Amino acid sequence: MSDCLFCKIIQGDIPSKKVFENDKVLAFHDINPLAKIHLLFIHKEHSKNVVEMSQTNPKAISEVFQGISEYCRDNNLAEPGVRVVTNVGRDAGQTVFHTHFHVLSGEQLKGFGA
Ligand code: AMP
Ligand code: ZN
Repeated sequence: MSDCLFCKIIQGDIPSKKVFENDKVLAFHDINPLAKIHLLFIHKEHSKNVVEMSQTNPKAISEVFQGISEYCRDNNLAEPGVRVVTNVGRDAGQTVFHTHFHVLSGEQLKGFGA
């Protein structure tokens, strides 16, 4: 989508600090990190959030999670721990309307009972 920030990052029109890429999935550092490690994993096909993605391209969800899992394995994040979060809609705090999965790690994470 031409006016989408993350589509522009995929196209290379806006710079990002990439950490993972394959033909379907891209991951880069969040510009405003909320943990020592804060990455964003996105699919290269535009959708506005995971609720839309599950209808328009359900396979993309597993492709993104395969990318996340490969990254976590290669970088030993699953132990001690990693959190994967996706915001859907305004009340959840979604500000960029290209489906993305926050991957938080690298420290003891607060919230969710921790
Ligand atoms: P959300 O609030 O769930 O929509 O998350 C959007 C995330 O995108 C926020 O954590 C922002 O810090 C991050 N963000 C916004 N612009 C950029 C950018 N140019 N490069 C990397 N991360 C960004
Ligand atoms: Zn997009």
